[in-house]
Amino acid sequence: MQQQQRNDFPDPYAELRQMLVEHLRRRGIRDERVLAAMARLPRERFVHPSFVHRAYEDVALPLGFNQTISQPYTVAFMTSLLELEPGEKVLEIGTGSGYQAALLALMGAKVYTVERHWELYQRARRIFAELGLSIQTRFGDGSIGWAEHAPYDAIIVTAGAPQIPKPLLEQLAIGGRLVIPVGDLQSQVLVRVRRQSEQEYQYEEFGEFRFVPLVGKEGWQDVHSKPNPS
Ligand code: SAH
Repeated sequence: MQQQQRNDFPDPYAELRQMLVEHLRRRGIRDERVLAAMARLPRERFVHPSFVHRAYEDVALPLGFNQTISQPYTVAFMTSLLELEPGEKVLEIGTGSGYQAALLALMGAKVYTVERHWELYQRARRIFAELGLSIQTRFGDGSIGWAEHAPYDAIIVTAGAPQIPKPLLEQLAIGGRLVIPVGDLQSQVLVRVRRQSEQEYQYEEFGEFRFVPLVGKEGWQDVHSKPNPS
């Protein structure tokens, strides 16, 4: 009987979702946990309603308010760089649509996410509730991290920063990984920082990307201006 009901309501996006996963695999994404979670996550719920028909294209899409939901390849690549184990504690800066945070939650992480834009913050919270995802959300400036819940096994920043914010380095657990785009407003290099001990950090670079700006105390003052003096 249950089987019958499932057949009555097929998921119209299941095939597109699987095609996107195969595309990401061909583009070099190897982390099977990332791919398995992407195969389950309904991206059509996170994009702006007027872009639902393009939800499974491998492109960034506008969310409104000058913000974007990142390209699936970028989400998959950054998530792979985090080298997550189930049960690890992850901080995301820049909730945006909520898609990245939801992916981390589906992978079994304990997720904390910060967003500075009120409408996007509220919208993401509503989607998490609708999908039954347990994700801790905060409204505010994430460029200073979220000290109350530190240390984090992984931190992912999904907005471009002029430099690596010191508070994020401090809130990383020993053995923890921080993935952050760093550069100017036009393009950024993806940097992974691994905290090796209290004082030692290892830095690696992974090519150029383009993100919307990280705006805040440890980020940009606003889109048209200079980094905040730190
Ligand atoms: N991870 C998102 C992509 C977000 S786009 C997703 O999966 O859809 C970047 C987001 O970072 C935007 O929503 C922007 O408002 C937010 N942002 C920019 N600066 C921020 C800051 N200092 N603290 C928190 N959020 C910030």
